[in-house]
Amino acid sequence: MSSNVRVRFAPSPTGPLHIGGIRTALFNYLFAKKNNGAFILRIEDTDQNRYVEGAEQYIIDALNWCGLHFDEGPTKEADFGPYRQSERKSLYKVYAEQLIESGHAYYAFDTAESLDFHRKDHEAKGKTFIYNWHNRLKLVNSLSLSKEQTNDKLNNGEHYVIRFKTPQNQLLELNDIIRGNIKIDTNILDDKVLFKSDRMPTYHLANIVDDHLMEISHVIRGEEWLPSLALHQQLYDAFGWKAPEFAHLPLIMKPVGKGKLSKRDGDKLGFPVFPLSWNESKGYKEAGYFPEAVINFLSLLGWNPGTDQEIFSLNELIQSFDLHRVNKAGARFDPDKTKWYNQHYLQNKSDSELAELYMPTLIQKLGLDGEKLNTKTVEKVVSLIKERASFVNEFWDLSDYFFLPPSIYGVKAVKKQWKENTGELMNDVLQLIEPIKTYASENIENTIKEWITTNELPFGKVMAPLRLAIVGDLKGPHLFDIMEIIGKEQSISRIQKAINVLN
Ligand code: GLU
Repeated sequence: MSSNVRVRFAPSPTGPLHIGGIRTALFNYLFAKKNNGAFILRIEDTDQNRYVEGAEQYIIDALNWCGLHFDEGPTKEADFGPYRQSERKSLYKVYAEQLIESGHAYYAFDTAESLDFHRKDHEAKGKTFIYNWHNRLKLVNSLSLSKEQTNDKLNNGEHYVIRFKTPQNQLLELNDIIRGNIKIDTNILDDKVLFKSDRMPTYHLANIVDDHLMEISHVIRGEEWLPSLALHQQLYDAFGWKAPEFAHLPLIMKPVGKGKLSKRDGDKLGFPVFPLSWNESKGYKEAGYFPEAVINFLSLLGWNPGTDQEIFSLNELIQSFDLHRVNKAGARFDPDKTKWYNQHYLQNKSDSELAELYMPTLIQKLGLDGEKLNTKTVEKVVSLIKERASFVNEFWDLSDYFFLPPSIYGVKAVKKQWKENTGELMNDVLQLIEPIKTYASENIENTIKEWITTNELPFGKVMAPLRLAIVGDLKGPHLFDIMEIIGKEQSISRIQKAINVLN
């Protein structure tokens, strides 16, 4: 059953989405799904100067990778389309003119040069130039000019913008689901441009008109848009439209120090800030993160479930999500925690799934030219090493010796563990394992341990050099499991090689 809840994620295609953008999309998605509503993607591409080729596709790919599939949007046209503002261009002017008609907006003819002059002049006096009630009658606009003068200018094709006429001496009461009531004195607001001289709407006008026409019930967006709320509320009032409810999400803060998370923080500390790679910047996907892990760690940046639960699937998030549990305060980004999440999701994947993910690396490292590796072997290897990994891309360093004999031996380990009589002991081991019929971990272990006990040998004197011979260092899981996987022939050849090289 669908409800009247309709939310939108409305990025501008000015570059790749930051993970903060994905967090905004996620909270919109969760709210929509929790309420049986619709999650809409709207591309806000009215600013031609900032348009970046490929950014829209990137946004769509990133949302899809995260599993945040939209119900309506570009490539998924529905009743409220088109979903790209550039394709709705013809619509906005009528609304701007409607506001002029009703006395809520006016034409302004000030040239860029004259505005620049005022700005600099104010700056020189340590002030800020604001275009509003206190000076608008001294500037060039349809409020200061006569009707004839205004019409002349319009008929002469002079450049103009349309500005919102912010009322004087009003106390606006705004409401935000996360922040509660906010009071604003309209006297401090400027008369924002709604429609530009290039005949395109500004963000403010297009955003309000589209949210209204698309019947958006809740606007959930980043805190950086909170300063626009006063204007948006006034626009709804001026049009006589019912405003949606608003929720401004807290900023995502740098891992250390003050301020919001930026790409520079990622570069400095070595973690991605984009979901997918963009030019030279690696994304979470390419860094080896699972989308489930990304979604899970993003969900807790600013929202808290009210319990200690930290692990949430997307479905569990949908069940638990509540806008009232979103914090006002900024959420500190913790790159170590993101790894912890990935490790968690990795440990919970089946060996066969992990083996499949590992396969392309193996094929490439071993130069197998697409030749099939034994899947069962790879699964076994993965089952033995995965607990030490947070990412599939760590598997090779943790398991190369399963596939290749050691080419070098750990210097420290050799010095400590390979003694004068070690070669002899290893020769004995060779004799022991050669006749083993079923070359399985337990059998190998029993055979060697029995011999150690019977001959009252120190355990480490045999096991450490044997591990050195098989693995090349004193690392890795249970040695006899490794020997079973590499097989008898390979075990023998590695022991022989170690005797030759290390003696
Ligand atoms: N286009 C704006 C952005 O880039 C949308 C802000 C909003 O959601 O109102 O974030």
